[in-house]
Amino acid sequence: MASIGAVTRQIANLEISGSQPANPRPKLGHTKQPSQTNVAKLLTKYAAPNPHATKPPPRAPSPTKPLTTRSTKATETTAKKVAGSSKPDLDIGKSDGGMELENEKRGTTVNGEAAGDLALDSSMVVENPTPKWTLHSFEIGRPLGKGKFGRVYMVRTKPPHQPYTLALKTLYKSEIVQSRVEKQLRREIEIQQNLRHPNVLRLYGYFHDDKRIFLMLEFAGKGELYKQLSKHGQFSERRSSRYIDQMADALAYLHSKHVIHRDIKPENLLLGINGELKIADFGWSVHAPGNRRMTLCGTLDYLPPEMVESKEHSEKVDLWALGVLTYEFLVGNPPFEDRRSAQSTYRRIAKVDLHFPGTVSAEPRDLITKLLQYEPEKRLPLTTVLKHPWIVRYRPKDA
Ligand code: ATP
Ligand code: MG
Repeated sequence: MASIGAVTRQIANLEISGSQPANPRPKLGHTKQPSQTNVAKLLTKYAAPNPHATKPPPRAPSPTKPLTTRSTKATETTAKKVAGSSKPDLDIGKSDGGMELENEKRGTTVNGEAAGDLALDSSMVVENPTPKWTLHSFEIGRPLGKGKFGRVYMVRTKPPHQPYTLALKTLYKSEIVQSRVEKQLRREIEIQQNLRHPNVLRLYGYFHDDKRIFLMLEFAGKGELYKQLSKHGQFSERRSSRYIDQMADALAYLHSKHVIHRDIKPENLLLGINGELKIADFGWSVHAPGNRRMTLCGTLDYLPPEMVESKEHSEKVDLWALGVLTYEFLVGNPPFEDRRSAQSTYRRIAKVDLHFPGTVSAEPRDLITKLLQYEPEKRLPLTTVLKHPWIVRYRPKDA
């Protein structure tokens, strides 16, 4: 696997695609349901016979062992080690048996330069290659969700690998080419595969076939944080503080690797089996200084003034987003939301038109206000966020 330095050099040559797919923000309360089509064809067509098919899946609810500790020293880099470090203790469920037609029709083979761009295979990287993975390496379980370019399935590695539960994300190459996000996807993969932090979703490996790319992702057992926020409306101070503590720690780690996430929002956060937060979706991330032009699409709610005003930006954009996130956790909607128009939201952001409902107490108000500063340099640094009284108050003694 390439070092961060090598990746930095590689991605320095990559441009942010000028045309990005629209990513409109669903309203709270809206949940993305996988459609009732299924993976039967996918399985019969591509998967090897499953040696465990007759055995009932283990039902023990004990969580999959986390692969990394809170320390950023965790060095497991190969999926081989990963596969050896856990037990088949999660029921991966069954595929729903209805995706046949959709899969049959979906996607075409990609040729030319794009085919080279999308021939992504983690066993081919020069430094620390992973074992060679194919779709035959996995027992395919239930669909976990639907992404822009394909579904995500719960899967388990088959012998000779030790059984290990993962999320396998499929992406149709022709759709990636159509949306002109080949370079963005490569960047996302290269960045994510080099990251090791308990609150950053791991990417263990990736491979491809004629039509699709497959990403082997850490399984986030408790699913989308967004769904939890939708369900509860808002979070308690304790819960919000715990999430923001984990976010600040993960962002400090990313920034130490010169990675700016740039798209922090509840939709991009998943929850691990113990409810721990996992930053996912590195589709917009870049290596610092990240001052290239970016096409704005989807929600404006988390964009800082310097981005809505198309100025240069730095890793401080993530501090602003952390302030917006804290507010949204406690209040239930982002602080500058203006349903009339994007223009109105833009104006509110540029003016830092911040108001708190009476329910937000003094300590989180203080933290949010210090993060939502117009001047990027004035935003509270992450090291100080981690020492803020509202964060320290709820941190477990052993953390
Ligand atoms: P979108 O634009 O809708 O967010 P996407 O292409 O970014 O789509 P993801 O968000 O990565 O796709 O995945 C779609 C859904 O699959 C998620 O919303 C989530 O419910 C589920 N999912 C994705 N990755 C995982 C994972 N590692 N563990 C558990 N569930 C996952
Ligand atoms: Mg997503």
